[in-house]
Amino acid sequence: MANTIKFELVTPDRSVVSEDVEYVGAPGVNGEFGVLPNHIPFLSALGVGSLYFKTGGRRSYVFVAGGFAEISPDKVTVLAEVAEKAEEIDVERARKARERAEKRLQQAQDRVEYARARAALVRAMQRVTTRETASQSR
Ligand code: ATP
Repeated sequence: MANTIKFELVTPDRSVVSEDVEYVGAPGVNGEFGVLPNHIPFLSALGVGSLYFKTGGRRSYVFVAGGFAEISPDKVTVLAEVAEKAEEIDVERARKARERAEKRLQQAQDRVEYARARAALVRAMQRVTTRETASQSR
């Protein structure tokens, strides 16, 4: 039985990861899920947060926001709306995005403005968390 699984992570713009890995953990809309080789097939929508994969026992982290994951016994395909490897995340940009989102939340006039500001706040916070988690795991 194979002890690795093919992992492809793409966004509309680019291929972010294409590797044979030992494990993929991802933020599904209904909570985290983990995939080992020979997993039963399933589909999941992605939420916003940190995805990680293991190669040689080492974890690599990627921020993802929205999209889908398709799992088959020998392959994990993630089609993410937005994805950045931990080392690509501009933390200063995320901190500024967080400050803007907090102000917009306070000033929101209706539910749509509130929901947009809240989504921007979650993205910014999860980007910072992904960077921190990746640096702590080294
Ligand atoms: P911002 O307000 O800083 O643009 P955002 O959450 O609105 O943040 P998104 O709409 O999620 O940004 O992403 C737009 C593009 O910018 C995507 O290609 C995404 O990968 C990139 N991006 C956004 N924020 C960052 C960041 N802090 N570091 C690296 N890339 C980022």
